[in-house]
Amino acid sequence: MLTLDNISTSYGNISALKGISLQVKEGQIVTLIGANGAGKTTTLKTISGLLCPDEGDITFRGKSIKGVAPHKIAAMGIGHVPEGRRVFPRLTLMENLELGAFTRKDKSEIKKDLERVMGLFPQLKGREKQAAGTLSGGEQQMLAMGRALMGRPKLLLLDEPSMGLAPLIVKNIFSIIEEINSQGTTVLLVEQNANVALSTADMGYVMETGKIVMSDTADKLLVDEGVKKAYLGD
Ligand code: ATP
Repeated sequence: MLTLDNISTSYGNISALKGISLQVKEGQIVTLIGANGAGKTTTLKTISGLLCPDEGDITFRGKSIKGVAPHKIAAMGIGHVPEGRRVFPRLTLMENLELGAFTRKDKSEIKKDLERVMGLFPQLKGREKQAAGTLSGGEQQMLAMGRALMGRPKLLLLDEPSMGLAPLIVKNIFSIIEEINSQGTTVLLVEQNANVALSTADMGYVMETGKIVMSDTADKLLVDEGVKKAYLGD
């Protein structure tokens, strides 16, 4: 579904991605793990068109999306939930969700999707008129995911959904990620919490200083001695 072929991205003269290649197959949950500053966020921003790579190619469902504008990439079916959620704090929960569907005109389908999102995140029910900035961190994460789902993505990019959340809430969020995936959305998940990410994913890629240094099934990475030492706290 998604292929990155030898992608390099830089910020001015700072090279952040140094020729990375990866693949996400339809139906999978794929995770990208690695330390702070490895280039995970840059990878997601390059896929969603917020950054333009200097080299390499990105194809999504058979078409090159390199250099395509972010709103067009979103309309092609890639939803991006950014690091730090980035909900609009002064808008209500419902207004934030509606913004996720702003390019769509099919009102009855939008209504159905609102119901689906509320079904996935029952914790958000009854909060429709609450200002998004007053929601808890976990609720804001759910809202950011719900907002992305309102664009009906085929591929959902999630940037550190566990960041700053208590373990029980992380567990809840990850079970919802599995539910979203089982309903037909492919997921590319960036995480510093390698344990929870590899326990959820089918495939994993390990990043270090702008390069992919290892890739395998998530099950194999979970028991790999090097990965255990560097990323799983063993
Ligand atoms: P984190 O989990 O901390 O976000 P990450 O793996 O997502 O880490 P990136 O944020 O992609 O890493 O950063 C990759 C590299 O690019 C780092 O060396 C970082 O300092 C650099 N970088 C990121 N954003 C910018 C920017 N706006 N300007 C200059 N350098 C940047």
